[in-house]
Amino acid sequence: MIKRIDHIGIVVKDIKEALKVYQQALGLGVTEIQERPDLGATIAFLPIGESEIELVQPVTIDSDAAKFSEKRGEGIHHICLEVDDIEKALADLRKKGLQLIDEVPRTGPRGERLAFIHPKSAHGVLIELYEYRESETAHDSDSQ
Ligand code: ZN
Repeated sequence: MIKRIDHIGIVVKDIKEALKVYQQALGLGVTEIQERPDLGATIAFLPIGESEIELVQPVTIDSDAAKFSEKRGEGIHHICLEVDDIEKALADLRKKGLQLIDEVPRTGPRGERLAFIHPKSAHGVLIELYEYRESETAHDSDSQ
């Protein structure tokens, strides 16, 4: 049911400062820096093999990332696991008694579907489940 770690989300105060470590010191590449008004955040994507690190800088005070950073400072915010069928995964986890933040998957800007599991049910870790649209796995679904 779970295919791989899709990404690890890290909340940072300032992406430019964080890139000095993740890009310059660690030598990771940045594919994109995206403004995401829907999340109240700016996100930098740094792929590593089959997965990526996402640096998340809150830009509005009421965003999830801002609330996290106020409480806990910078650090790992969530781990995202790719699943092939998000509805099935949610139903299964519900049956096993896990507390879900999203009972129904949210749809992201590219049609991808995602849902969060409450950290209380996962030993303190916020887990995101992510299902790619078929066209998305082929990448560049937006071209042409
Ligand atoms: Zn994520």
